[in-house]
Amino acid sequence: MFEERVAECLRLCEQAKSLHGVELHGVLAEIAGIIDGLKQQAPDPAGAILEVHARILSQLHEPIITMNIDGYIVGWTAGAQGLFGYSPDEAIGQHVLFLYASDPDQQGTEIPELFLDHGGSLIEARRRKKSGEEFWAAMSLSPIHDEDGGTIGLVAHLSELTERMSTEETLHLHASVIENSDQGILITDANEHIVSVNSAFTRITGYTAAEAIGQTPDLLRSGAHDTSFRTQVREAMRGAGPWQGEITGRRKTGETFPQSVSISVVRRANGDVTHAFSIFSDISVQRAAEERMQRLVNFDTGTGLPNRTLLTQLVDQAITAARRMDSHGALLAIELERFTSINDTLGQEVGDELLRQVGMRFRAALRDEDILSRVGGTEFVAALLNIQKREHSAIVAQKLLDSLAQPFSVAGHGLHIDASIGIAIYPEDGEDATMLIRFADSATKRIQKGGESGYLFYSPEMNQRAKEHLLLESELRKALVQQELLLYYQPKVSLRSGRIVGSEALIRWKHPSNGMISPAKFIPVAEETGLILDIGTWVLDQACRQVRQWLDQGLSVPPVAVNLSARQFDKNLPQRVLATLDQHRVDASQIKLEITESLLVKGPEVVIPIMNALVASGLALSLDDFGTGYSSLAYLKKFPISTLKIDRSFVIGVPGDDNDCAIARAIVTMGQQLRQEIVAEGVETVEQMVFLRNLGCDQLQGFLFSPPVAADDFARMIREGQKLSIG
Ligand code: C2E
Ligand code: MG
Ligand code: MG
Repeated sequence: MFEERVAECLRLCEQAKSLHGVELHGVLAEIAGIIDGLKQQAPDPAGAILEVHARILSQLHEPIITMNIDGYIVGWTAGAQGLFGYSPDEAIGQHVLFLYASDPDQQGTEIPELFLDHGGSLIEARRRKKSGEEFWAAMSLSPIHDEDGGTIGLVAHLSELTERMSTEETLHLHASVIENSDQGILITDANEHIVSVNSAFTRITGYTAAEAIGQTPDLLRSGAHDTSFRTQVREAMRGAGPWQGEITGRRKTGETFPQSVSISVVRRANGDVTHAFSIFSDISVQRAAEERMQRLVNFDTGTGLPNRTLLTQLVDQAITAARRMDSHGALLAIELERFTSINDTLGQEVGDELLRQVGMRFRAALRDEDILSRVGGTEFVAALLNIQKREHSAIVAQKLLDSLAQPFSVAGHGLHIDASIGIAIYPEDGEDATMLIRFADSATKRIQKGGESGYLFYSPEMNQRAKEHLLLESELRKALVQQELLLYYQPKVSLRSGRIVGSEALIRWKHPSNGMISPAKFIPVAEETGLILDIGTWVLDQACRQVRQWLDQGLSVPPVAVNLSARQFDKNLPQRVLATLDQHRVDASQIKLEITESLLVKGPEVVIPIMNALVASGLALSLDDFGTGYSSLAYLKKFPISTLKIDRSFVIGVPGDDNDCAIARAIVTMGQQLRQEIVAEGVETVEQMVFLRNLGCDQLQGFLFSPPVAADDFARMIREGQKLSIG
C-alpha cells in the first residue's frame, strides 16, 4: 500500500521534472496530497518542530531516504546522492544495511530504522559512503502509516556530523543550517504572521528579524501582481498545496526584485495548518544576466535595434496573424549608399556613430508599432506589420528617404548619406520573413544597378499601382489650385409632391487631358493623403458661393447638401462652417451636411458634441450610405440626425430581392420611429420608386429623376419647376 503510494509519488516527481507552470503546480499539488494523506496519522505532535525542519530541509536539497517496512530503499533524493555518492539507480531497491559502517561496535543503535515503530525520532549512527569513507550521521526518522495506523515505512532525514551530537545539538544544527542557508526563509504561523526569518532573509530584503517578526508577508509586497496571483500565493500559504514560482518582492529600500519562491505548509495530525514557510532566492542577478543574453542574441549592439533573428521571429508571427485577419504588411529593405567610403576615409568609429544616428532618424520616421531592425553592416529593414493599403508602404519609404535629407553631424563632419529601399509585401509576395527580406533586397539591388537611389517594389504590379497613386496625388494637388474641380448638383425630389426639395453637391474633377474623373477614384486618395481637408473646405465654400449666386438671381433654391469626410470632423468644424456661411451671407437652413458612419471610429464622445454644436447653429445633418457601415442602433438614437439616406446598394435590389426589401423596410420603419426623414439614394426605375414610396420613404435621389448636373442646369430645372411624375 505504502510502496504503491511512494511509487506513485516518485512517478509524479519524475513527471514533474519536465513540467512547467500550471501543469507543474497540478502535479506538485497531487504529490503534496499523497504526502499529506500519509501524514494524517502521524501520532506524535511533538515531532512537529522536527517536521518543520525536515520539510524545509527537504526543499533545501537535504539528504532524505525513504524505505519500506522491511528496510528496502524506495526513495533517494539528490541530497542523499550528494551525501553518500550513490545515484538513485544504485540506491533504490537496496537494503538500507548497505549504508551501514563496517564496524558493528560503532554502529550505534542496531538497525535503528527497523525498530522504530512510533513517533518521529532523532538518532545518530555510523554510516558508510560509496567512497568507503565512514561518518557519523544525524538521522531524523519519521514513520509512515497506512490508513489503519500500521507502520509501513520510514523517512530518514540525514545530516553528516563531525562528532556525535545530542538531540538538542542536532536541533541546533538544523536551526543553523536554516539560518545559514543562502536562500531566504520566512516562517509564518496559522494567523499568517511572520514568526521566524533567517539571515539570508535580512540580507535579501533588508528587514531585520525584529522588523519582520509579527508582520505579515505583505511586508514584501511590491504591487506588481494582480489579485488573482496574490490569492494563489495566499491559498498556498493556507495549505492549498505546495507552490513554486516567481514573485516580485520589494526590499526595505523600496527597490523591487524578482525572487524564485517555494511555499509549503506544516499541518497537525488533524490536518490544520500550523505553519507555512516560504523559501526564496533573489534572482535579480540571474534575471539581469538573462536579459543581457537576450539582448545579445536579439539586438544589434551598434544601434540597439532588433537584429535579423528577432526581426524574422516578429515578422513570422505577424504574417501568421495577418493570414488570420486577412491584412497586409510590408518589408522595406534599406541599403545605405556609399557608406564604405565614409568608413574608409573617416574611420570605423565615425561610421558606427553615423549608423547609430541613421537608425535614430529612421526610428523617428516610423510609427511605434513598426519594427526597425539592423540586419547587416549597412542594411536596415523596416517592417510595417499592418498597413491599410499596400501602396502606403511607398509613402513610408519616401518618408524614410526624406529623413536622410538633412546632413548628419558626426565628430565635426557634416555627412550626407543616401539610401535605396526595396519593398516586399505580404502575403502577396511571400509568406515568410526570410523570403520577403530576400525579395526586398533584390528590389534594392535593382535600384542600385540602375545607379539610382529611391524605392522600388519587388512586384511590378505594385510599382505600377504606386506610380499611379503618386501621380494622382500630385495631380490632385494641382487640380485644387488650377481650379479643375467643380460641383455638380443632383436634385432630391419629394415622393409626395414630385417636386425638387433639395440637392446634393457632388464634386467633379475635370482633368485637362483625362476628362472627368470620378470622385470614387480620387476621394479615397484625397482621404489617405489628407488633401481631403483642403478639398472639403473648397467644396463648402463653393456650395455657399453658388447658393448666394442663385439667391442673388432671385432663384428660390431648396437646401443644398454637402458631403463631409470623417477627417473634417474636428471640434473646430462648427466654427469653420459658420464662418463660411457668414462670408457668403447664406443662412444655415440652406445647407445640409452629409456624414457617414465611418465618423464613428473617432468615438461617440468626440463626434456627438460636434454634431450637437452644428445642429445648434441651425445646420441639419443627414446620415449618408446608411446600412453599409457599422452603426450601432444605440448611437443612432443619440445622434442629432434629421435625415437617413438608404444606401444605393439596397435600392438596387428592390422590389425583386427579398433581402434588400427587408432591409429597406427595416430602415424606413426605424427612421420613422426616430422621426427622421428618409431619402432613397440611387433610384433608377419606376418600380423602385413605387416600392420605396409605398414603404414610406420621403424623398428620392437618383437617375430616375436626374443625374448630378452642372449648376446652371440645376438652376434651370428649378426655374422650370421640373417635377417627377409619381403616378
Ligand atoms: P454619395 O455621397 O453617396 O453620393 C451619391 C453617389 O451616387 C454620387 O456618386 C451620385 O452620382 C451617385 N448616384 C446618384 N444617383 C444614382 C443612380 O441612380 N444610379 C447610380 N448608379 N449612381 C447614382 P458620385 O458623384 O460619383 O460620388 C461618389 C461618392 O464620392 C459620394 O457618394 C461621396 O461619398 C463622395 N463625394 C462626392 N463629392 C464629395 C465631396 O464633395 N466631398 C466628400 N467628402 N465626398 C464626396
Ligand atoms: Mg452623399
Ligand atoms: Mg450616398
